[in-house]
Amino acid sequence: MIIAMKIGADKKQIKAVESEIKENNLKSQKITGEERVVLAVKGALDADKSRLKDHFEAMAGVESVKPISKPYRLASKEFAAGEKVLIRSKTIGDAMEIKFNGKEVIMMAGPCSVESRSQMDETASFLSGLGVKVLRGGAYKPRTAPGGFEGLKEEGLKIMAEMRDKYNMMLITEMLDVDTANLVAEYIDIIQIGTRNMQHVALLRKAGSFNKPVFLKRGMSATIEELLCAAEYIMQEQDIPQVILCERGIRTFEPSTRNTFDINAIPNLADKTWLPVVADPSHGTGYSNLVSPVAWAAIAAGANGLMIEVHPNPEKAMTDGKQSLNFEQFTELYKKGQEFAQIKGKTLI
Ligand code: PEP
Ligand code: MN
Repeated sequence: MIIAMKIGADKKQIKAVESEIKENNLKSQKITGEERVVLAVKGALDADKSRLKDHFEAMAGVESVKPISKPYRLASKEFAAGEKVLIRSKTIGDAMEIKFNGKEVIMMAGPCSVESRSQMDETASFLSGLGVKVLRGGAYKPRTAPGGFEGLKEEGLKIMAEMRDKYNMMLITEMLDVDTANLVAEYIDIIQIGTRNMQHVALLRKAGSFNKPVFLKRGMSATIEELLCAAEYIMQEQDIPQVILCERGIRTFEPSTRNTFDINAIPNLADKTWLPVVADPSHGTGYSNLVSPVAWAAIAAGANGLMIEVHPNPEKAMTDGKQSLNFEQFTELYKKGQEFAQIKGKTLI
């Protein structure tokens, strides 16, 4: 059950509702959003729900009470209380803030892996020159087969942080495990949870504990409901829910592409959750020639952002070269993407 307080409800009214929740032997999580306070209530028995709904609805300061029968509550559309996912840079702070507010399509781009300072400098210089505000780059790389490049680790994080300061960009990188979580959170603005870790509950909880936006990639064989449940684990730890969902392709019977990009997921998620949805056609297809068309289709389907792998020299990339765009290909994706966004009444930034 979600109890949304009115905009401007005072502390006394909120306290009264919280006490009443306790009186009924229920537990709640209070979220203080930008506009209003929302209480997500757990534990109500089905038989009690309609009585409790009427009861809470009659209390002063309560705007609405919505029963929820899904296994996720904070992620559900009913929870939406004027919430927005905000990205703030660690060093630039409020002065540079990006908001997933439905009016913009937010580009996140960069190489699969941070390989060297010069590779990142060349890429960040190019991207920031085009107007891209969020830089990606993996410092800890999950590899399907052992023996491959596993990333520059802390050195990679340091290079990323240098790029933030030099080019005024925000940073996203993958948090691969609980052991390195604190270190990653120290350097990075948006925490990425990869497809292989989508149901790693301890890591989801840890990622949520930093109160930074978490970018949650759909597990390669996960259902939409499982993705939303994973988001719920993260949000249960956050003071203000800040999760961005990412469709990055799922495993199907089709072997000619790396994954099958599930375009359905974009409008389907928009129907079920208030959380922004970003499309990653790089991992979703696995081939650079397929990335742009699928990126544009994702904008048309209503994506709130794109994650694109771009490399100064894809043939020499240490990871995911086949799906990485060179600068010329990325420029075309970005420029045409702006036109697609315009048709949707949005701006691609
Ligand atoms: C990545 O973004 O580099 C990555 C490893 O993605 P995924 O978890 O979707 O495979
Ligand atoms: Mn990659």
